[in-house]
Amino acid sequence: MANEKKYRIGIDLGGTNIKVGIVDQNHKIIANHSVRTLAERNYKEIVKDMADAVFFILEKTGISISECSALGIGSPGCIDSKNGVVVFAGNLHWEHIPILEELKKYINLPMGLSNDANCAALGEVVGGAAMEYENAVMITLGTGVGGGIVMNRKIFEGGHAGGTELGHITIISGGEYCTCGRHGCFEAYSSATALIRDTKRAAQKYPNSLLNTLCNGNLEEINGVTPFDAAKKGDAAGKEVVQNYIKYLGEGIVNMVNIFRPDVVLLSGGVCNQGAYLTDPLNEYIRKYCFAGERAFIPPIIRATLGNDAGIIGAASIVE
Ligand SMILES: [Zn+2]
Repeated sequence: MANEKKYRIGIDLGGTNIKVGIVDQNHKIIANHSVRTLAERNYKEIVKDMADAVFFILEKTGISISECSALGIGSPGCIDSKNGVVVFAGNLHWEHIPILEELKKYINLPMGLSNDANCAALGEVVGGAAMEYENAVMITLGTGVGGGIVMNRKIFEGGHAGGTELGHITIISGGEYCTCGRHGCFEAYSSATALIRDTKRAAQKYPNSLLNTLCNGNLEEINGVTPFDAAKKGDAAGKEVVQNYIKYLGEGIVNMVNIFRPDVVLLSGGVCNQGAYLTDPLNEYIRKYCFAGERAFIPPIIRATLGNDAGIIGAASIVE
């Protein structure tokens, strides 16, 4: 049947690239295409490129727009999903951009817009690590800390733009400076950026530690793997960094669990490649500190599985 609506379109808008994917009914990306964002341009040009990329991939796969039921965009920044407006996105230099209204000039489909971290969380619930769950909190540990909440298999983003910014809850009052202007945010302690900062500091504090050997004495070579490598080899400074990192992450996750009590907590980002070395002590931590402890439900902390595809898959499912 030519008009059966078997497909959805997901767009992952980033500061560097716009990634467009066609997603099937099993929430699998069957084709994708990426174009440069060139964020310094007027937004209308960027949206035009977005539409062109959608038509390009439809043509390439021989799928007609009438076979698609919906289109969704995951965008960085603060999003007004009700009105389809990007309220603020620093890496795109955008303020109050009516992205859906603009895209509707080119494409006639039901459309949705949400924050990219929200879309990634939804993607994992509809087609990834959390497929068997209804309610999930996902935390993405990257340059910053992104967070997404899915309740009853739908994105929960609060009542207004700027809600569920999970990276910007306070872990340590008056603590490290955060890019949002506050001090002591979850992001300022649990992002990969923070982990690298803390590893560099430990390397300086303990000049004889393995941290210094592993980076060949050049602190700029320290990455998010360095402290874990040192800790696994028994290095005291490495262990201290990793233990602190797990504590910060654990504190943030306990906060999430105490508010949302989800079925599952998902972690994504490069740091998660540490696998059980990271998730085992975290599971133990939240078991101990979540409100009511094991008398109440303790969600498992697991790794997300879709990687960069989660954003497209989730965006495609914003419109129900
Ligand atoms: Zn912050």
